[in-house]
Amino acid sequence: MSNKLRVLVTGGAGFLGSHLCRSLLNKNCKVICVDNFYSSHHSNIEVLKNNPNFLFIEQDVCELNIKNKVDHIYNLACPASPVHYQSNPVKTIQTNILGSLNVLELAKRNKAKILQASTSEVYGDPEISPQKEDYWGNVNPIGIRSCYDEGKRAAETLFFDYYREYGLNIKVCRIFNTYGPYMAQNDGRVISNFIIQALNNKDLSIYGSGLQTRSFCYVDDLIEGLIKIMNTEDSFTGPINLGNDLELSIKDIAEKIIHLSNSQSSIKYIKAVSDDPMQRKPDLTLAKKIINWESKTSLNQGLNLTIDYFRDILKK
Ligand code: NAD
Ligand code: UDP
Repeated sequence: MSNKLRVLVTGGAGFLGSHLCRSLLNKNCKVICVDNFYSSHHSNIEVLKNNPNFLFIEQDVCELNIKNKVDHIYNLACPASPVHYQSNPVKTIQTNILGSLNVLELAKRNKAKILQASTSEVYGDPEISPQKEDYWGNVNPIGIRSCYDEGKRAAETLFFDYYREYGLNIKVCRIFNTYGPYMAQNDGRVISNFIIQALNNKDLSIYGSGLQTRSFCYVDDLIEGLIKIMNTEDSFTGPINLGNDLELSIKDIAEKIIHLSNSQSSIKYIKAVSDDPMQRKPDLTLAKKIINWESKTSLNQGLNLTIDYFRDILKK
C-alpha cells in the first residue's frame, strides 16, 4: 500500500488551488482536487491530469460526496474576486457555510487535518493598521461584500466550533491579496485587470480615488506559507495572517504596472465600488514566529512574472 499523504484540495482548479495542487504533487502527495469551475477553467489543471497522483472530481462542495480516504484537507472552494462572489451572493454564502460544514464533516469522519483559506476580508474596512489576528474587524453585515466577508467569518466560527466540540485538528489562515500567473483573464481583481489593460494599451480603471491601499503577495510565497501552516504542530489552530506587508495605494500600483509593462496606457477614474475597504496591511509577526515565514518575492519581480504570463496568454 502506498504511504503517500492523501490531500484533498477544494477549489483546486482555481488560481491559488491549482498552484497548491502542483506544489503538493511536487512534494510527492496524492492530490484529490474538487471543483465545480464556478470561477475557474479546466485549463488550470489540464496538465496535472497526466500525473498518476492527481485525481480530479467535478463537484460542488455544497453537495460534497467524497468516499476516498484523506489525511489533509485544504478548503479553498469559494469565488474570491468581488465580481464573481457578488454575481451570485446567495451561492457565495452557501458555499462558505454549507461547503465548510461538508468539508468539516469529512475531516471528522477521516480524522483528517483541515485548513481553511480565510481572508483579510474578515477585518472588513479596518479601523486599525496593520491588522493583527486579535482584531475583530469592522464588517458591514448587509452590504454587497457581506456574502463573502460574513460567509468567511461564519466559516471561521464553524472551524473553531468543530475544534472545540469534536477536537478537530484545524488551521485557519487569513490570506491577504495574492496575485500571480493562473489568475483568470476575467477574474476582475485589480492586478489582473490592470495588467491586461496595460498590455492592451487601454486605460487602467481605478475605482474611486485610487488612494485606497492593499498589500500584495506573490502566489509562490503564499502557497509555501499555506503548506507550512498545515504542517505546524496540532496545538496550533491560528487564525494566522499570510501575505506581504508592503502597503501601496491602488494609484501607485496602476502607475507601476504601466511602467513595468512599457504600456502607453493612461489612468481613468471611475465610480467607487460600495463598501470598498480603504486600507489593508497584515501584521505578520505571528507568521514569522510560528513558521519563520515571510514573502521573498519583491513586488517588481512578482509583477514582471505575472506580466510575462499574461503577455503569453494574450498572444494565444
Ligand atoms: P478563485 O476564484 O480563482 O478560486 C476559487 C475556486 O473555487 C474556483 O476554482 C472555483 O470554481 C471554486 N469554487 C467556487 N465555489 C465552489 C463550490 N461551491 N464548489 C466547488 N468549487 C467551488 O480564487 P482564489 O484566489 O484561488 O481563492 C482561493 C481561496 O483563497 C478562496 O477561498 C478565497 O476566498 C481565498 N483567498 C484568496 C485570496 C487571494 O488574494 N487570491 C485572498 C484571500 C482569501
Ligand atoms: N480596483 C480598481 N480597479 C479594478 C479592480 C479593482 O481600482 O479594475 C480596486 C478595488 O476597488 C479595490 C482594490 O482595487 O480598492 C483591490 O480590489 P480587488 O478586487 O483586487 O480585491 P479586494 O481587496 O477589494 O477584494
